[in-house]
Amino acid sequence: PYGRVFNFSAGPAVLPVEVLEQAQADLLNWQGSGMSVMEMSHRGKEFQSIIDGAEADLRALLAIPDNYQVLFMQGGASSQFSAIPLNLSAEGDTLDYIVTGSWSKKAAGEAKKYGKVNVVATGDNKSVPDPSSWKLSPDAKYVHYCDNETIQGVEFKAPPVVGDKVLVADMSSNFCSKPVDVSKYGLIYAGAQKNIGPAGVTIVIVRDDLIGNSRPSTPVMLDYKVQADDKSMYNTPPCWAIYMCGLVFAKMRRDGGLAAVQQANEKKAKVLYDAIAGSNGFYSSPVDAAARSMMNVPFTIPANADLEKEFVSQAAKHSMIQLKGHRSVGGMRASIYNSMPLDGVQQLANFMKEFAVNSA
Ligand code: PMP
Repeated sequence: PYGRVFNFSAGPAVLPVEVLEQAQADLLNWQGSGMSVMEMSHRGKEFQSIIDGAEADLRALLAIPDNYQVLFMQGGASSQFSAIPLNLSAEGDTLDYIVTGSWSKKAAGEAKKYGKVNVVATGDNKSVPDPSSWKLSPDAKYVHYCDNETIQGVEFKAPPVVGDKVLVADMSSNFCSKPVDVSKYGLIYAGAQKNIGPAGVTIVIVRDDLIGNSRPSTPVMLDYKVQADDKSMYNTPPCWAIYMCGLVFAKMRRDGGLAAVQQANEKKAKVLYDAIAGSNGFYSSPVDAAARSMMNVPFTIPANADLEKEFVSQAAKHSMIQLKGHRSVGGMRASIYNSMPLDGVQQLANFMKEFAVNSA
């Protein structure tokens, strides 16, 4: 309907039609308030009910324990690269980073401005390095890792085991794609624009004891204590983005919660990885089977890389867009976040088959 395409973008990414329709219906007059969510005071009772509802639904989805705060922050996940060391460490502290791809590398790079970064392990962009090779430091304030590397398509299948260290996770590209035991983490953060909403809001889930120790130089907007005390409304929050995330959370709950979401995602990912495996080597996945992402599926045409461009442009003619791999790695990448329907993935798998036959 609506002439929509199958959008395999890595983010901003596809949203559920049902949610977009709800937003459309609410656009001029949200629930009889006589105004749109974009026009409301963030201090009014209407918006308060929207942000409270979004938080309550997210807490229910992830079963977030009471001793964690949910913060709706701005500046993207990239701002958290700085906020984390500023809030969780003092000058001169050691900070552990596991590097498994571009985003964890960027996070570690930013943290170097604020502390002594110890790179625990560096991956080969196609696997999670064997934990027996990790060099955790005894005194690190936290261990940071990226649960799903959006560009490489490398995903952790279980949280890294870091003993009694505070575990910090960038879940930007697999947030709410599966149930997560929040109690294993000190902090989880995620930009909204892949799995849960439009760009503009970043979710931070942080344990109470990690709040209130920011460095004096921390910008007020990045200070978890300020954001927690002011319930994410120290200043004007990204109201519209929060509202949209709230609609997505509510839909996920209606659809059976994160266990159901995970099931659907596993099914979709299997369709694509099977299409690659069943192509007699025409397509190849650059990622080891044990670390293949359920969200971002990179693949190549190893025998003839020239065909990759052709693949992307022909797919677009069939209404499957944004299949070009990240400029740093090439090839193709299909991002199949929560809101990508199974239909879209099946259509892509069928197209892959046809393209391979026609190119032989
Ligand atoms: N981390 C990961 C895993 C990402 O995929 C991205 C965005 N592609 C970022 C961080 C940066 O997010 P933002 O653009 O919201 O700063």
